Amino acid sequence: MPDGGGCQMLVRAIPNTLEKLAQIGDATAFEPAGDLPESERRGRYQSHSLAECITNVTTPRGKMPVLKTMITTACERNCYYCPFRAGRAKTKRVTFTPDELASALDQMGRAGHVDGMFLSSGIIKGGVTTQDKIIDTAEIVRRKYRYRGYVHLKIMPGSEYDQLYRAMQLADRISINLEAPTQARLEALAPKKEFTRELLNMLMLAAQIRREHPHERLAGSVTQFVVGAVGDTDLELLSLSSRLYQQAGLKRVYYSSFSPVEQTPLENVAANDPLREHRLYQASFLLRDYAWEVEDLPFVGEGNLRLDLDPKRAWAEINLRETPIDLMTAERSQLLRIPGVGPKTADAILRIRRQTHLTDIGQLRKLMRAPEQAAPYILLDGRRPAQQLPLF
Ligand code: SF4
Repeated sequence: MPDGGGCQMLVRAIPNTLEKLAQIGDATAFEPAGDLPESERRGRYQSHSLAECITNVTTPRGKMPVLKTMITTACERNCYYCPFRAGRAKTKRVTFTPDELASALDQMGRAGHVDGMFLSSGIIKGGVTTQDKIIDTAEIVRRKYRYRGYVHLKIMPGSEYDQLYRAMQLADRISINLEAPTQARLEALAPKKEFTRELLNMLMLAAQIRREHPHERLAGSVTQFVVGAVGDTDLELLSLSSRLYQQAGLKRVYYSSFSPVEQTPLENVAANDPLREHRLYQASFLLRDYAWEVEDLPFVGEGNLRLDLDPKRAWAEINLRETPIDLMTAERSQLLRIPGVGPKTADAILRIRRQTHLTDIGQLRKLMRAPEQAAPYILLDGRRPAQQLPLF
């Protein structure tokens, strides 16, 4: 350790901050930071160790360990599902200054423990004041410590235009969490949040800022829904997701299965089935990456997806069993309707069929991982493929 007054101060300050980080532990376990949210989840909010603040996150820059934490676990709002809601006695309240957090990130980065930061917060003295603290932390991280790692910042309800713009300049990604798909559902989950003014408009504003500054490198936006606590349907969630992909340029929508937290108003509500969350992600990718419309999704009953089949296969069962798609003549958009065919496989099929006739399902093994998924729904040069697939 180098000597000198400043460094000695640092040596005294950092363990204190790291201890506080350990007290927070996995507080952000239900707030994804990267592109594979299901792989980030490790459990309920219960752990209190520094290791629990670090999560391996898949980001646009690759997979990396990220410090996930909060400016404060105190909050003046009372969202019904949240362990940090005002008045919940069981929650230990821990607060950091921006300097403390920035310094801790620098220390952990230099030690090789983390390559990025995800920063959330409870709300104290309003969204604007809290957002200032999040932005101040990122300013110190980027300017004083010249940190170039991945930074994902939460945008607080009620933040202002200039704060949003600055956060987008400092971060790689920003989250504005809608929590629910409609104002009525939000009132049942988080009565002090305003659906349109505080949340939806901010997502649209982020898209507007990107349009106003086309040559600047600005953070992409994501949002999150709490799924399954207040009667929300897949149709509601996916209709809004589709609109947000198209109108707000969202990078990703997170669907976080509701899980009851004791000492909250929803403590006796059953946990959401994680399979429903998985089906929502599958449908969401069809909307975002496969050019599907909400109307294409095979909802049943009151507007939910089947749990026993992935949505693409459920659609194919209804639409392709009797009228399969010929791989030799189909358009790209039709190929993307076939179970097991993603954008890369569709492009490979288009490429290879210019050179050769696809007549045998064995030829597809070079193009896709599981051609047997596609077999019931395709024609090869006008014929149904043989159902018995070669083993090698
Ligand atoms: S504003 Fe955020 S931290 Fe506060 S109670 Fe609601 S969800 Fe929890």
